[in-house]
Amino acid sequence: MNFADLGLSDELLQAVELAGYSEPTPIQAQAIPSVLMMRDLIGIAQTGTGKTAGFVLPMLDILAHGRRRALMPRSLILEPTRELAAQVAENFEKYGKNHDLKMALLIGGVQMGDQVKALTEGVDVLIATPGRLMDLFERGKILLTGCNLLVIDEADRMLDMGFIPDIETICAKLPANRQTLLFSATMPPPIKKLADKFLSNPKLIEV
Ligand code: AMP
Repeated sequence: MNFADLGLSDELLQAVELAGYSEPTPIQAQAIPSVLMMRDLIGIAQTGTGKTAGFVLPMLDILAHGRRRALMPRSLILEPTRELAAQVAENFEKYGKNHDLKMALLIGGVQMGDQVKALTEGVDVLIATPGRLMDLFERGKILLTGCNLLVIDEADRMLDMGFIPDIETICAKLPANRQTLLFSATMPPPIKKLADKFLSNPKLIEV
C-alpha cells in the first residue's frame, strides 16, 4: 500500500514525504480513505500505531477543501491530557504547513485570554481537553454549532479520567449531522455505549 493510493491531495503527499514516511501504517491505510469519504469511524488502536496521522491527514484534506464561513470552529479534536493535545497540535503544524488553516489549542494551565482571542479570530481546528473546553462554554466564550467534524481520541483514557459526562455534553452542542471519529485502545462497555449514542454507522477498524 502506498500513501498515493489513499486519496490524499498532492500537498499532503508532499508533507508525508517530508516527514520521511515510506508507507502508511495499517491504521492509516484503513482510516484515511474512510475519513475522506466522510464516514464515521471507530479506530481501536494504541498510541504508536500512527493513528494521529491517520486522522490528522484526512482532516487537513477535508478542511482545505471547505471554507471558513463564520468565525465558528469547523472541527474539534478532544484529547484527555494537555500533553496529548499539544502533540496533536504539533502534528497539525507539521502536516499542515502547505495549508492556510488556523488552529487553536485549548488546554488548562495556559492563560484563557489568549485562547479566547484565538477563538474570536476564527478557527479551523480546535484541539482541546474536555475540562478547559467546558470552562469556556460555561463562560459563553465558544460556540460549536459550526463544528462538522469531531475526533474523540484516547476514549478509554477519557473514561479513566472521568470525562465521559463532559464528552456527552460537548457532543450534544455539535451539529447532529457531523462526522465523528473515535479512537480507543480498548472498547469497555461505557465507550461502546458512547459510540452507539454519538456515531452513525461507523466503520470499525482494529489494528
Ligand atoms: P502515533 O501512534 O500517532 O502517536 O504515532 C507514532 C509515531 O509514528 C510518530 O512519531 C509518527 O511520527 C510516526 N509515524 C506515523 N506515521 C508513520 C508512517 N506511515 N511511517 C513511519 N512512521 C510514522
